[in-house]
Amino acid sequence: MSRFSLAMAVVCVTTALTATAQAQAPAPPPTSTTKVEGTDNVYIFRYVGHQSMFIVTPDGVIATDPISERRPAKPYIDAIQAVTKAPIKYVIYSHSHFDHIAGGKPFKDLGGTSVVHTDLRARLGELNPGVVVMADEVVDNQKIITLGGTTLELNYVRKNHSDSTLVMRLPKEKIIFTVDWIPLQAVQFRGMADTYVPDVEASLKKVIAMDWDRIIPGHPGPGGRQIGTKEEATNQLAYLQDLSAAVKKAVAEGKSYADAEKEIKLPKYEGWGGYGPFLPMNIERYYDFWNRGI
Ligand SMILES: [Zn+2]
Repeated sequence: MSRFSLAMAVVCVTTALTATAQAQAPAPPPTSTTKVEGTDNVYIFRYVGHQSMFIVTPDGVIATDPISERRPAKPYIDAIQAVTKAPIKYVIYSHSHFDHIAGGKPFKDLGGTSVVHTDLRARLGELNPGVVVMADEVVDNQKIITLGGTTLELNYVRKNHSDSTLVMRLPKEKIIFTVDWIPLQAVQFRGMADTYVPDVEASLKKVIAMDWDRIIPGHPGPGGRQIGTKEEATNQLAYLQDLSAAVKKAVAEGKSYADAEKEIKLPKYEGWGGYGPFLPMNIERYYDFWNRGI
């Protein structure tokens, strides 16, 4: 469940409880395609609470994450084909998590080459290739894709939200697409499953040092916002550093998990998505790091 889905669920409940249904704003449709302002050919496809970037060129399309776990990929393919009849040449996986990369088969069937980080291909071989189709090409530290006049850099900045996260950068457009670890005004999701601490902070610094102005994350932010700025990354780094320092102190003072989770407050981030339910879970992740080195 993404933060966006959660928000939509809340909207639905509110709607059901309100007698004057007419006063409610209509729920957003399950999918949408948005051209990124100021670009010639960069699009965001949203599928309920997940989103992907795709790039249209005269020689074909570079698609990213199929975002079709337990649902058909057809709406995504249809959305691309509504913009262009050019063939899908690539489908690039952002990281290893199935909710983002399941559903790649129809893209491959149409001739798309799938590209992943090296460690992810190894993982797919071990885990569940029935859900996620195997990849054709791999990225070690960097790979440059050039298609129809567009250049897309695939960068590996080491471990963070997973061990296989790519930072996809459009150098001309100064846009990056990277998923799940630089959210728009939100704390980290639940217990930060699969996140490497403290590597995630080092990784963030590498991303901040890159040349880009806008970020497309894997989920919309508050109010359905789909794009952020570099501030999202600098703010997220500040959040993780503040969280880490607060938990380190609590562990040093001999506080228990329960007391640390109850007592640590980070009011600077109170207005962020997930602060209420997920801050204690984020604290638990850092507690494990400072208490047991894991
Ligand atoms: Zn993820």
